[in-house]
Amino acid sequence: METRDSEHTDKEGYYSLECPFCSEQFKGFARDINSKEVIDLFCPSCGLCSYKENFQPHIKLEKPVKVTLNDLREKLPTLKRVYGVEGKEQKTELYKVTSNLESTQENYNLETIEMICCNRKIKIGAKEKRTSVFCPYCGVK
Ligand SMILES: [Zn+2]
Ligand SMILES: [Zn+2]
Repeated sequence: METRDSEHTDKEGYYSLECPFCSEQFKGFARDINSKEVIDLFCPSCGLCSYKENFQPHIKLEKPVKVTLNDLREKLPTLKRVYGVEGKEQKTELYKVTSNLESTQENYNLETIEMICCNRKIKIGAKEKRTSVFCPYCGVK
């Protein structure tokens, strides 16, 4: 495993974040995000609040994949033991948590905004400049 911090920060030390509610992508300074004082983050776009862990873009809950137990036997033989099902074919929904490194792509325009309330800088998609932005740290608009 490589060092995760540098993997998910850009050259200026910003950490990629993604709102778990509206999927807005933004960035916060890694030092701020990793700070013990910061427990929750507010989405700068929709203003909803969640644990900062939920804003990590590289941890994705993929859409449920429908697989049959026969598929499981072939692809994931160890799962057979976990489920302990023999014979009958049943449908099982699997939620797969993957490490999605591709989500750190930089193909959207980001603007650096200074949140005066908390004296912290964030980066957010330029389109969000049109309206007011919620401060990810205190939720103030
Ligand atoms: Zn949001
Ligand atoms: Zn603030």
